[in-house]
Amino acid sequence: MEVFGSSGVRGVVGDLMTPAFVGRVARAAGTVWRERHDGPDRPVAALARDTRRTGETFADAAAAGLTSVGLDVHRLGIVPIPGLQAYAEREGIPGLMVTASHNPPEYNGVKLIGLDGIELDRGDLERVEAHVRAMRSDGAIGPAHAPWDETGRTRRVGDARRRYIEGVLDAVDRRAIADAGLTVALDPGHGAGALTSPALFRELGCDVVTVNATPDGHFPGRNPEPVPENLHDLGRLVRAAGADVGIAHDGDADRAVFYDATGEPVEGDATLAALAAADLAPGNATVSAVNVSQRLVDAADRAGADLELTPIGSTHIITRIEELQAEGTHVPVAGEGNGGVLFPPYRLARDGGYTAARLCELLAGVGDIVGVDAGRRTVREIVAPFDGYENVRLNVGYGSDAEREAMLDAIGTHADESEAEVTTIDGYRLDFGDAWVLARESGTEPLVRVYAEAPSRERAEALAHAMREDIHGAMQEH
Ligand code: MG
Repeated sequence: MEVFGSSGVRGVVGDLMTPAFVGRVARAAGTVWRERHDGPDRPVAALARDTRRTGETFADAAAAGLTSVGLDVHRLGIVPIPGLQAYAEREGIPGLMVTASHNPPEYNGVKLIGLDGIELDRGDLERVEAHVRAMRSDGAIGPAHAPWDETGRTRRVGDARRRYIEGVLDAVDRRAIADAGLTVALDPGHGAGALTSPALFRELGCDVVTVNATPDGHFPGRNPEPVPENLHDLGRLVRAAGADVGIAHDGDADRAVFYDATGEPVEGDATLAALAAADLAPGNATVSAVNVSQRLVDAADRAGADLELTPIGSTHIITRIEELQAEGTHVPVAGEGNGGVLFPPYRLARDGGYTAARLCELLAGVGDIVGVDAGRRTVREIVAPFDGYENVRLNVGYGSDAEREAMLDAIGTHADESEAEVTTIDGYRLDFGDAWVLARESGTEPLVRVYAEAPSRERAEALAHAMREDIHGAMQEH
């Protein structure tokens, strides 16, 4: 697919992302949803957005696109994407989210949700894409507009955030979390979680302190990506407040990353492994992507559970979970080390607020982890069984298609010339037994991501830097 990547469609505002383009995407999605709809009433779609400066403009364009092909629209306003997904599931209607998730402020995008609250499946997404491309080549070609007296109407829904919070509260052990008396430092990064997570954790009985907790599409405090270089303020807040845990979200709050009580970041792979260890049982399966950490491998091994790998991106992981569930395999937890965790029995959707609440359960002593004592625990204690690995991630940008081709060739050559076992599910993963390195193109930005993991930082850096040097060499020759 050219228009939709693994995370929907995203781009720089004014370049790819214009109101006209978003209107076409909405018109295409609405056409597919209209065809899927049966019954005498008009089909309905839910529409929400994150806090981006251009969110309202694009949501207006999306509403126009949807109503123009005959759908009624429930406008939820600013809601975390898991809140839109919960609403879509409850109402049995599809959803359109205007968001660029963790991308910088000048980006925006669209993500489509199916009737079941799960990301739109690939078949429907391909049909939407075909309509969009038909409209791109010639504005006159494309799905029919509804007759003048059958265009849709919009309705504002004011309680979607409240209902989302209550859904999370009902799904966790509130009493245990409240009894633990946790102090939580929150950094929603001026994103959609700013309007839900502070209330959620207060209602869970935590003492809550916040930074970057005003919704603001200029993102004055930090960029939306919840990575350590953007989270120095959260580390300081944890220390100043004596908090038990620091929690940060991305712009649409489907991810949660954590800081320990000393204000240091915790590897996302380590918290994923701890959350998985508490839920996995013998005969279960968990699913992760080809950049999976040895920590999750260890958690699955110790639990007697299977680990299945997919290409990177939550869409691939969700598809594999659905296949396993159809075979009768229980998948209690899955996800990636970037803070995007899935708890399929709760919902087959990433949810930063729910993930963080589940981590607070672990701190409160809910759930058994092999090697960790029962009762109140610290963040460091719950991830201690999964220590002992160092991760290095770096990006190499390109400026042209020719540079991109040279980079990809260099990665293939690097893999061929290595002594490693090579996996090509998605990019090139080179396994060296005690360590691994992976190089793959970003689905959303013009760069190649290089990941490495090893028992020591020196070895992980050596693997990542060797890959980068070969890529740089190829670009300079070019
Ligand atoms: Mg996100």
